[in-house]
Amino acid sequence: MILRDPVRAFIGLGANLGDPVAALRNALEQLAYLPATRLVRASSFYGSTPVDSSGPDYVNAVAEIRTSLTAPALLAALLQQELQGGRERPYRNAPRTLDLDVLLFGSARINSPVLTVPHPRMHARAFVLLPLAELAPDEVSAAQLDAVRDQGAWRLAG
Ligand code: ADP
Ligand code: MG
Repeated sequence: MILRDPVRAFIGLGANLGDPVAALRNALEQLAYLPATRLVRASSFYGSTPVDSSGPDYVNAVAEIRTSLTAPALLAALLQQELQGGRERPYRNAPRTLDLDVLLFGSARINSPVLTVPHPRMHARAFVLLPLAELAPDEVSAAQLDAVRDQGAWRLAG
């Protein structure tokens, strides 16, 4: 395994099929077991109406991890975890049992064919910005929050 200096990274979690809350709880548990990685904190869970997608409402959250994995190794592990979560990709933006995205990876800017960081659509999505702002208020500006305030995304109880 190729390791690097530990970095603080934020993972976006989403699901809208099956039992999304259970899928996210399970996914958070799995994040804690990634090699060379520590789960630092998880945000509250949020409900959201599908954006560029379809089907039932989503449940979303953001997790802060500290990892010595390289960014490509982290992505590979997350895609593996999506598969174990039963994800299929019948078509682009299809409903999914589990979606795991690398939102931020330290201050890295990555533009490879398989990985773009910061995640290219994160700043347009309330279901990412709201939970991210809980964990890392410095990473989200008031203007960004204002721009997404009309999107359907709400904090779930519990
Ligand atoms: P989305 O999350 O945008 O709805 P998918 O989950 O289907 O789309 O991801 C498709 C591909 O996006 C992944 O196979 C991965 O290679 C690529 N990708 C690019 N940047 C990222 C990122 N920051 N986090 C996760 N996947 C990414
Ligand atoms: Mg994804």
